[in-house]
Amino acid sequence: MSRLHLAIQKKGRLADQSRDLLKQAGIKVQDTKTGLTARATNFPLDLMLVRDDDIPTFVGDGVCELGIVGLNVLEEYRLGQDEDDVEIIARLGFGRCKLMIACPESEAFDMSALEGKRIATSYPRMTRRFLAESGISAETVTMQGAVELAPRLGIADYVCDLVSSGQTLEANGLKPVETVLESESVLVRTLKPIDGAMAELVDALKARTDGVIATSESKYIVLNAPENALEDITRILPGAEAPTVMPLLGRQGQVAVQAVCQESVFWETLEQLKGAGARDILVMPIEKMML
Ligand code: ATP
Ligand code: ZN
Repeated sequence: MSRLHLAIQKKGRLADQSRDLLKQAGIKVQDTKTGLTARATNFPLDLMLVRDDDIPTFVGDGVCELGIVGLNVLEEYRLGQDEDDVEIIARLGFGRCKLMIACPESEAFDMSALEGKRIATSYPRMTRRFLAESGISAETVTMQGAVELAPRLGIADYVCDLVSSGQTLEANGLKPVETVLESESVLVRTLKPIDGAMAELVDALKARTDGVIATSESKYIVLNAPENALEDITRILPGAEAPTVMPLLGRQGQVAVQAVCQESVFWETLEQLKGAGARDILVMPIEKMML
């Protein structure tokens, strides 16, 4: 029987969350002795544990039908290909970060400052595209790591690097000023032809991961409200279509409302609901979901 191949990061920021996603999708994984592969015991799936930079190549070549990788790595890879050989089939919502231009903290930055300067980055293709789109001519200096040290070392004037909290930049006297790409992890699929049985496995795995992503953001909300507030309340409920409305015994004009909210429910949302007349609001997690 055919087995699906999924490339994930072996070690690093995406490794644990990639494995967590599979776990939540009900897939049990057993590592092999080599440490290069792992095997699912209850789903026809083998994992390839590699450096994130190699994931697009593995998937593009069709060695792995699927991969989990940051959009930043994927886009940089794609810009180097004549023809796309990988497609994104799901956004996974973890590994969020931004690829940003950063300048010395004391500088009052504007885009024209980049003209004729040197920008250190691990993402030269994306940086060049951004500069070209902004009508700036500047030089990129490609570095594999420690990009944030480049200005201090006199290698470059600016950097274009990944930022999540901004702490690393700050520690090096830099501040982020322009966003080149907003990134998160994505599930990618090869564009090389795969046979019918394999395509079915891809769909089955995707249906499960879609379910995991949907449930992680979704909540089940139950509340009581006056009937005449229903329109307002339905509008406030985030990502809820057609809530269930039931009469409350012995309370004329009052109803119970139940809905699946497909977006995050914040305290602010509850306050708004209450403001609209809702009472006894319950927010419950959803364990599994198949859409
Ligand atoms: P590898 O050994 O696999 O090449 P790496 O050092 O290139 O690992 P990590 O630092 O583990 O990569 O980051 C992997 C991915 O995590 C990044 O490509 C990016 O998509 C995401 N990420 C999220 N936040 C950050 C951040 N603050 N800095 C860097 N990467 C981040
Ligand atoms: Zn890497």
